[in-house]
Amino acid sequence: MSLSAAADRPPWPWQEAVWRRLCRQWRQQNLAHAYLFCGESGAGSAGFLHEFANLLLCEKPLDQRACRQCRSCRAGGAEHHPDLLQVAPEEGKKDIGIGQIRELTEFLSRSGFSELARITIIPRAERLTLAAANALLKTLEEPADRTFLLLAAVSPGRLLPTIRSRCQILPLPGPDPAGAADWLRQQADRQQSHLSEAALGELLEACGHRPLEALDALRSGRQEGLAAMRRCLHGLLSGETGIHKMVTDAGKIGEAAVFEQLSIISTIVIRGLIEDAWQNPENHSLAEALPGKDRAARLAALLEFHRQVTEARKLLAGPGNPNPQLLLESVLLCWQRQGGERAAWEPAP
Ligand SMILES: [Zn+2]
Repeated sequence: MSLSAAADRPPWPWQEAVWRRLCRQWRQQNLAHAYLFCGESGAGSAGFLHEFANLLLCEKPLDQRACRQCRSCRAGGAEHHPDLLQVAPEEGKKDIGIGQIRELTEFLSRSGFSELARITIIPRAERLTLAAANALLKTLEEPADRTFLLLAAVSPGRLLPTIRSRCQILPLPGPDPAGAADWLRQQADRQQSHLSEAALGELLEACGHRPLEALDALRSGRQEGLAAMRRCLHGLLSGETGIHKMVTDAGKIGEAAVFEQLSIISTIVIRGLIEDAWQNPENHSLAEALPGKDRAARLAALLEFHRQVTEARKLLAGPGNPNPQLLLESVLLCWQRQGGERAAWEPAP
């Protein structure tokens, strides 16, 4: 049976081979002191690290999984376990500083809650500053008994070579497109979301083919938000929807979320125009409604819209404190005007 067939927790199907390999080392008491898992963003590496820490800390592991019933598991699993420390950038910061690595060293030197293991997890190890990385090297060079460092990185090339060379490096790949779609279909069925194949494909595409993010979007109703946003954009071009209504609606979910959806939709339609292939006929219909006498002109129009959305998102996230409502109005106004002034979209002769 698949490790994850009956579970709603990692390892996910695309991580099972690595999980089995680690479990083999664990059974043979042959675990490395430090691991570096290299994987793409959004493939669930942080969850994998935590689940493996759960297993190492579990007092009565069952079938190569944490039992979820022993004292350690009941203490909340690895996430709240006193023998586990997760190191990540502090709030508002991008990098992991040397102070955090000093805390890590102190944590590893204290006596533990259990005899089983002391574990530190660094899910985005490439965010270590140079000073922090150098401080971590010391811990890697002088490993204490039963201490484990679980590092993961999306860009392992940015880590110090000396850190990489002291870790056992394991690839932690994401799913292939078919595997991602199969898994999302199972999850959608499990939570009784009735998604058409086209809608499922679109959702995955919107989430950069990251199934965990797509599941999160499904649970939070972003799938419906995309459809609603597409209808509104269509309506603005045809004059059936007014900007005011769209801005009012946007106030309910936040302008940043609306800009994100506009960016996703325009990306999907741009890709459709380039490849001339449409998974969802509604995206094709939106592309057809765009001004411009041919595909190239429509593409140029949409690229310009996408540029404006990107610019607006940057402004919104920046330090300038712009008025989000006005920003959204200005982007939508450009979109609407272009619908009414189709001639302006024609490429210059
Ligand atoms: Zn347990």
